[in-house]
Amino acid sequence: MTPEQLKFDREHIWHPYTSMTNPTPCLPVASTQGTCITLSTGEQLIDGMSSWWSAIHGYSNSQLNEAAHQQIDNMSHVMFGGLTHEPAIELAKKLVQITPASLDKVFFADSGSVAVEVAIKMALQYWQAKGKSKKHRLISLLNGYHGDTFGAMAVCDPINGMHDIFSDILPKHYFAPSPSTTFDQEWDPKDIAPLEQILSDNHQNIAALILEPIVQGAGGMRIYHPQYLVHARELCDKYDVLLIADEIATGFGRTGKMFACEHAAISPDIICLGKALTGGYMTLAATLTTKKIADTISNGGAGCFMHGPTFMGNPLACAVANASIDLLLAKDSLAQVAAIEQQLKVELEPARALDCVADVRVIGAIGVIELKQPVDSVKIQQQFVEQRVWVRPFGKLVYIMPAYVMDTASLSKLTSAIIHVIANQ
Ligand SMILES: *Cc1c(COP(=O)(O)O)cnc(C)c1O
Repeated sequence: MTPEQLKFDREHIWHPYTSMTNPTPCLPVASTQGTCITLSTGEQLIDGMSSWWSAIHGYSNSQLNEAAHQQIDNMSHVMFGGLTHEPAIELAKKLVQITPASLDKVFFADSGSVAVEVAIKMALQYWQAKGKSKKHRLISLLNGYHGDTFGAMAVCDPINGMHDIFSDILPKHYFAPSPSTTFDQEWDPKDIAPLEQILSDNHQNIAALILEPIVQGAGGMRIYHPQYLVHARELCDKYDVLLIADEIATGFGRTGKMFACEHAAISPDIICLGKALTGGYMTLAATLTTKKIADTISNGGAGCFMHGPTFMGNPLACAVANASIDLLLAKDSLAQVAAIEQQLKVELEPARALDCVADVRVIGAIGVIELKQPVDSVKIQQQFVEQRVWVRPFGKLVYIMPAYVMDTASLSKLTSAIIHVIANQ
C-alpha cells in the first residue's frame, strides 16, 4: 500500500467508531490466511479477534473458498422477491435443524443489526395481529449490545448505546439490571427478581424480552448463569412476553455449545444469527421464529411480514454459509472450542495476580481480562503489534475470541503477549 493510499484512507474513509478529524491509526493489511493477518509491511500478526467473532474456521479456508468460487461462477445474486434458489433453501434447512426446537421459519437479513430490527418487528406485528397493540415496548438487559441501527440501538445499554445522543428519537424501552451470578457460581435466586418485577408491573406494555444468552458481548463481555435464562423463559411465558435470543455473537459454537441457549436447554420465540454465519466471509444474518408467530403475523391485518432487503438471501453468502456449517458439523468444532477453553483458563488465569487486573473470565473460545482502569487504546494497540498479535481492547476489557482452528502454540503466543502487555502498562 502506498503512503498516498493511506493518506486518502485517513482523509476520506470512516472506520468503525472513529473521528474523521482525528482518526486513530489503522494498519494496512495485505492478506489473511488461517489465523494470521499479514500487514503490507510484511509483519504477521496472530489474530485474536476472528474479525469480530466471525472467522471461526480461520481465513481463506479451502472449503469455503471453493464454495464461493463455485457459486460465483453460477449465480452471485438474484432478487429474492418472487424467486428462490438452492443455496437459500439448503441454508434454511440447516438453520432449522441446528437451532433450538420449534424455530422453523427463516428470514434472511443482511447484517446482525438488521436481523435484530426484523426480530423486533416480528414481535410488534405478532401482538398487533393478536389485537394487543399496546404491547409495543421491549425489555432488555443493561450491558446488552444488539447493533447500531435505531431499533437495535434503543435496546442496547443506554450508556454504551449512546441513548443520550439520540434520546429524542429512540423509543423508550425497559431495562433490567444485567445478571450478576456468573456462569460458574452457585445460582442466586435474587438475580432474577428485578426482571420479574418489571415484567409483573409492565407486561401489558411489553412485546418481548431481548437478550444475549450467557455472554453479553460488546456491552461488557459478561458471562452469566444459565439459570437466569431458565427463569427468563418461564417469566416470558407467565407474563405473555416473547423471548428474543440475540445469538449473533454466541451462535455457531463460540460458547462451547452450538447455541448459547443450549446451556439452559431453553428455546426462544425468536433467534437472531449473524457474524459467524458465513465463517467470516461476507455479510449475512438470519432471524428465525416459530410457526405460531409466523402464522399469527401472516393472518394479521397486514397479511404479511413487512420487510424485504435488496440483497435478501444473497446466494453467494448462503453458499458460503452452507459450507461453513457443514465444516462446523463435520470437524467436531465443539471439541476444538472445549480445548481452547481449557487452554485459555490455564494461560489467562495468572493475569488475576496482576495489580491492574479486576477479573479474568473464560467460556468456550472467549477469553476476557477486565482491568481496573480503561486502557489507552492507541498505545496498547501498538504494544500488541510489537508482540505480533492482533488484539483490540475497548475500555477496561482486553479480550480474545480466536478461530476454532487456532493451534496451541499460536494460542500460547497470544495469551503470553496479552499478559506481557497488560503487565507493562
Ligand atoms: C455484532 C452484534 C450485533 C450487530 O451485528 P452487525 O452485523 O454488526 O450489524 C448484534 N447483536 C450482537 C449480540 C452482536 O454481537
